[in-house]
Amino acid sequence: MTQAAIIDGKEFAATLRSRIAGHAASFEAKAGRKAGLAVVLVGEDPASQVYVASKAKQTVECGMASFEHKLPADTAQADLIALIDRLNADPMVDGILVQLPLPGHLDEQAVVERISPDKDVDGLTPISTGRLALGLPGLVPCTPLGSLMLLKDRLGSLSGLNAVVIGRSILVGKPMAQLLLGENCTVTIAHSRTADLPAVVRRADIVIAAVGRPEMVKGDWIKPGATVIDVGINRLPPEEGKTKGRLVGDVDYAEALQVAAAVTPVPGGVGPMTIAVLLRNALVAAHRNAGVALGDETL
Ligand code: NDP
Repeated sequence: MTQAAIIDGKEFAATLRSRIAGHAASFEAKAGRKAGLAVVLVGEDPASQVYVASKAKQTVECGMASFEHKLPADTAQADLIALIDRLNADPMVDGILVQLPLPGHLDEQAVVERISPDKDVDGLTPISTGRLALGLPGLVPCTPLGSLMLLKDRLGSLSGLNAVVIGRSILVGKPMAQLLLGENCTVTIAHSRTADLPAVVRRADIVIAAVGRPEMVKGDWIKPGATVIDVGINRLPPEEGKTKGRLVGDVDYAEALQVAAAVTPVPGGVGPMTIAVLLRNALVAAHRNAGVALGDETL
């Protein structure tokens, strides 16, 4: 039995970023300004600080303007909403990302809903979600769109394939299912109440695992020859003598390699795609907001 191909998200994301940089330069030439992405961070969560720094760095490296807004943890809801309103009105800002989760006293849903759908680079507002469901052009959540890009790069047409999405979150599972439906897959959404999950997953030509449970999907759940996209990022407890545990996905990678045709690794699979697609979304929004044609809408 030959081992599955490893889907290299890191390399794909690097190629995508270089395409983005090319389009960002031609946008600047046509619009007379850089495309701009604003990132709002409330509080001092260390993981969120790392993400925000990384987003800002990659935004600038791609030739776009990065506007960082770091607010104290005790920021009032009204002040955060006022900032969103200013960013909505700012013509230099094409995309607004509010780093989640927000501190507990803030109403996350109300904050997200305040973002203009034309600047909603995370694709989480009700308008963006509705546009996706209706098949209208709009901004789509980054992780599922990045997963779809990897799938299409690997498989070409997805039409007629059975896809099982494990997880039904607003951030990953539901938009992933909508995107696959848009590609004419036959889609099953599984979740914590799904009966006989291994049997459901065994029917899938495409498995998307977005659960948050380390190595839950075993090799004998996977149909031979399936393509497996592992969205999960889980840190195991540290081994003896180590300070940090290993990062693993929701799929038992070693087992999946023996059965599947292709698998994304963790890290280095879906993870690197998320920020690259965020930059892609910001650039698409910039073109729409400035009324500049984007040569390649599939960017
Ligand atoms: P959520 O916790 O919001 O959703 C998890 C989903 O998994 C829920 O729908 C839940 O079902 C389902 N689930 C939980 N346990 C089981 C089970 N035993 N069997 C079947 N389904 C189950 O997580 P997210 O969607 O936000 O994230 C999922 C994973 O993806 C996490 O590991 C996260 O870290 C990772 N992630 C990675 C990103 C990346 O950039 N690569 C970006 C975003 C997330 P129910 O609805 O019934 O509770």
